[in-house]
Amino acid sequence: MAKIIRTQRVKRARSLAKKSAKKANSTPGTAKRSLKAKSLKAQKPWTPAEIREAFERFSRANPEPKGELEHLNPFTLLVAVVLSAQATDAGVNKATRTLFQLADTPQKMLALGEERLRDYIRTIGLYRTKAKNVIALSQKLIDDFSGEVPRTRTEIESLPGAGRKTANVVLNMAYGENTLAVDTHVFRVANRTGLAPGKTPLEVELGLEKVIPAEFMLHAHHWLILHGRYTCLARKPRCEVCLINDLCRWPEKTV
Ligand code: SF4
Repeated sequence: MAKIIRTQRVKRARSLAKKSAKKANSTPGTAKRSLKAKSLKAQKPWTPAEIREAFERFSRANPEPKGELEHLNPFTLLVAVVLSAQATDAGVNKATRTLFQLADTPQKMLALGEERLRDYIRTIGLYRTKAKNVIALSQKLIDDFSGEVPRTRTEIESLPGAGRKTANVVLNMAYGENTLAVDTHVFRVANRTGLAPGKTPLEVELGLEKVIPAEFMLHAHHWLILHGRYTCLARKPRCEVCLINDLCRWPEKTV
């Protein structure tokens, strides 16, 4: 009799253990499913109508957005962009205000020389390398491009210190081309909102070019930069005052 009771107890204990194990296993699965649903929602592509609506709002709020890097001509713009790598626009402006009064052409920059140039820009990060590049690019502009900043991406990218981002900014701001430079702000906004998710700046750039209507392309770069710099901040986005908070796909937005 005692043996029968013991067997029944063991059976009951095993069945309870099975049930609780099943329950325990089901929780992470459910959480995983809901997380997946959340991220799928985050990646749901915008419709063309939503994208148009977003850019119409940017356009109404700021019809002629301007970049914040101070410059006097295409050459000083090129130099300012080269100096701005891993530096803030405000920091670059502080250094270039005096510099550009003295050297606003490749010829004047060469006359100034690398050593004196270094003195003007020593408050900017990586100033030694940047000074070297600015002198080398000034020389190349004189040797290969008659002292003018060229108008094609490949030619601009051939200049020392200038990459794809520099070429896109110069083509857009100096020559009115529909190029879209992806900096840290544009990269964050495009990914966070779901507008053009991508793992690299190039992927984001090509994604944005694909979805932004042509009539908004000229100013898209500045609208997105300014949005990232002043509203969709990296650490604490200001979703409550964001123009596109109803369209944004970010699951962690605060409105
Ligand atoms: S709602 Fe928030 S996260 Fe989305 S774009 Fe606006 S500021 Fe950025």
